[in-house]
Amino acid sequence: MTDKRDYYEVLGVDRGVSEAELKKAYRVVAKKYHPDTNPGDKEAEEKFKEAAEAYAVLSDPEKRAKYDQFGHAAFDQSGGGPGGFGFDFADMGDIFGDIFGDMFGGGGRQRASNGPIRGADIKTTLRVSFTEAVFGTQQEIELPLKDECHVCKGTGSQPGHQPETCSKCAGKGQVVFTQQSLFGMARTIQTCPDCGGSGKLIKFKCSNCAGTGYVKSKKRIQIAVPAGIDNGRSIRIKAKGEPGINGGERGDLLVSILVDRDPVFQRQDYDLFSSEPISFTQAALGGTVTINTIDGPYDLEIKPGTQTDTKVKLKGKGVPTLKNKNVRGDHYVTLVVQVPDKLTEEQKSILNQYASTTGVNARSSTDSAGGNGSLFGDHKKKKGFKKGF
Ligand SMILES: [Zn+2]
Ligand SMILES: [Zn+2]
Repeated sequence: MTDKRDYYEVLGVDRGVSEAELKKAYRVVAKKYHPDTNPGDKEAEEKFKEAAEAYAVLSDPEKRAKYDQFGHAAFDQSGGGPGGFGFDFADMGDIFGDIFGDMFGGGGRQRASNGPIRGADIKTTLRVSFTEAVFGTQQEIELPLKDECHVCKGTGSQPGHQPETCSKCAGKGQVVFTQQSLFGMARTIQTCPDCGGSGKLIKFKCSNCAGTGYVKSKKRIQIAVPAGIDNGRSIRIKAKGEPGINGGERGDLLVSILVDRDPVFQRQDYDLFSSEPISFTQAALGGTVTINTIDGPYDLEIKPGTQTDTKVKLKGKGVPTLKNKNVRGDHYVTLVVQVPDKLTEEQKSILNQYASTTGVNARSSTDSAGGNGSLFGDHKKKKGFKKGF
């Protein structure tokens, strides 16, 4: 008994050491003598166990006080020391969990499995059109949902019978395995294999639910898709997931939104982008062009001499924000000047007149009867080439 080393000495700390310092000191000693770093070294193993024991006692304020008062006698069961309580290595799981995290598998921390457990969340997807995502929509989907079986009231047993308490785990849902290990007796807690953690055994299964206690049926679920939702975002519908266990609340339904592409508009966050063709005469002369916005046709005034690829910002014509649908992003329109590829004789004549006023040579109307010649380009080089065909 007395050949046991002083716990403070084992960890190399003073008697007045703080809890934090104690933990630090123990970590150093335990790492040094850890069996993984000293394979087959009996002395290291002993030191490791010694340190673990010392820390287990000193890290517990109650045990530490006893130890300070009575020394090792405080834990000497056979001697029946004052207030004697045994030192149990089975308590070590938590200590190691604190110090090394997952290194030791951290057993002994599972929650009681027969308390109320919230049901799991369910995931599904919903496809909406581009405009529906912009302005929001109300959709209805059909989904099979589990409900408590009305015949057995969720017990899984035939009416008139009750589930029996599982004898293997005495209704706890967990079983404790004890085995000899490096530290003495080690304890691992596992879900009971007989009852699967429910703590109950069903001998006479309810025929309506095959003993599961639940039945699945298709449910119609309303989904309010908010204005401004973007592709890939999820909507949480409360309490439309899996039912809870032992009175736990129902899980939620998570609806992931898939937004269709739009042939006209592209979206980035709350801004919209599109391109709009305008005629070359409108571009040159200016005027009103009707362009597509998400709200419908919109008359846009353009300045004379508008170049192709001119970008116009339509403030507040973008996507409503999720927070406030009255606050909207912007719409950026790129104006693309269209050059006509078919002209009537009259149009050609007019354009040639125009060309002659600019000093730029243009193909005569009789030359380009094919209608696909270059209108304003330097045609001289091409003329002979084209005629050759
Ligand atoms: Zn049932
Ligand atoms: Zn059981």
